[in-house]
Amino acid sequence: MSDLGEKTAAVIQGNIALKEASLKPTPAISALWTQVHNEMRGEFGEAIFRSWLKPLTLQAYYHGTMEISVPTRFMRDWIQTHYAARIEEMCREQNTDIKRIQLVVIQSSTPLEEDTKEEDDVLSDLAQKKANQNRKNAIAEISAPLDSRFRFDTFVVGKSNALAHAAARRVVESDTVPFNPLFIYGGVGLGKTHLMHAIAHTLEEQSPDKVVMYLSAEKFMYQFVRALRANEAMSFKEQFRSVDVLMIDDIQFIAGKESTQEEFFHTFNALVDQNKQIIISADRAPSDLTGIDERLRSRLAWGLVADIQPTSYELRLGILQTKREQLKATIPDSVLEFLALKVTSNIRELEGALNRIVAHSDVANQTITLESTQDVLQDLLRSHDRRITIDEIQRKVAEHYNLRVSDMHSARRARSVARPRQVAMYLSKQLTARSLPEIGRKFGGRDHTTVMHAVRKVEELIDEDAQIAQDVDVVRRALTG
Ligand code: ADP
Ligand code: MG
Repeated sequence: MSDLGEKTAAVIQGNIALKEASLKPTPAISALWTQVHNEMRGEFGEAIFRSWLKPLTLQAYYHGTMEISVPTRFMRDWIQTHYAARIEEMCREQNTDIKRIQLVVIQSSTPLEEDTKEEDDVLSDLAQKKANQNRKNAIAEISAPLDSRFRFDTFVVGKSNALAHAAARRVVESDTVPFNPLFIYGGVGLGKTHLMHAIAHTLEEQSPDKVVMYLSAEKFMYQFVRALRANEAMSFKEQFRSVDVLMIDDIQFIAGKESTQEEFFHTFNALVDQNKQIIISADRAPSDLTGIDERLRSRLAWGLVADIQPTSYELRLGILQTKREQLKATIPDSVLEFLALKVTSNIRELEGALNRIVAHSDVANQTITLESTQDVLQDLLRSHDRRITIDEIQRKVAEHYNLRVSDMHSARRARSVARPRQVAMYLSKQLTARSLPEIGRKFGGRDHTTVMHAVRKVEELIDEDAQIAQDVDVVRRALTG
């Protein structure tokens, strides 16, 4: 025991047998181990090698048993269930005398006088945390980065996305897995990725121990194919099966990619069996995912299927108002209303339009107005032009105010006629791509300054006079609805 006394720098745990000098591995066995250890890189992949296998050290050899040390109990258990059998095989391929490998825990860090139960627990706790961190790091290499702006508190909720939002919140607020999988679908640019990142951010904050993996289906496929080529399919499988929450974005991408689907299907089932949360997004409902195997499609619809509908005017306006606050920019309400009306395709484009006018006003050092907005966004607006005509606007305004359409062109200046005419000019400016002189011509050959005055006047009145604001709103809806 005197020999051991000098080695108290090593904390010895579990069932490690303290070997005498005669059990020291022979040079041949040591060389064999070095070779097998190196081969593990190729066999299991770099990430797994670094997280798990690198610290494996040959300690002793006796009667066909290779004794290999690992630094923590947690790692021993993990390696035992996941890699030990294969490592044993690899050794046997080199030398048939080798019957088995035995994993023992040797912590070489802190010297301890006495190995009390309590200290043991603390250490293994620390070790577990560290191993978990290793696992997290390995996963982080595969996971796609999260956009820091995509959070729950920056997500504006409206009727069209309320269900998907509520479901996403349930996932982070619930102690158990509320539904598996959560399947979110909707058109491009409507907030699917935003919601998924919001879930990931929240989980990371509230349960840092959880291993959350987020990636696009495209990246999943890429990783899978790469793993196959590099002979790392095993490690690929294990990494995906060791996560607590798996999120795959844009699953429609693997349509027609059969082996990727097959792999995903098995991963999916393995995680569901372990009661791990899965979240999937797609651009369409599970039943419409053509090119995806029927088995997988029906699995995808097992849990909660939540759709995101196209946006409404109110939601678009709400998002723009939120963005305006975030950007701390001075933007008149009329501009936001204009954008909410005109850019209806999706939220990404809506944000893009707002960013463009803000950037332009910064560079040009100009305040943002309706006119400048129309200028800057000319190309975009042309493609989104809903082809509302000035004639149509005049008809609707006349109808609303119980006037004749001819009153829109006439020279009558009574307020009961002039005000509606101004509203019609304002809406013409807002809803069509016509220039001020063009609008003027359509209103009985009026000058462009008259139109400009009308636009400003109505803008002012909308702020001051609830009746006018409502009139404008009603007519606008009638035209764009
Ligand atoms: P998808 O993944 O559905 O194609 P994204 O999640 O990438 O769409 O959303 C596109 C853009 O719109 C992102 O910048 C996102 O932050 C924004 N966005 C989408 N929905 C909302 C919402 N409800 N509130 C605020 N921003 C949103
Ligand atoms: Mg997306």
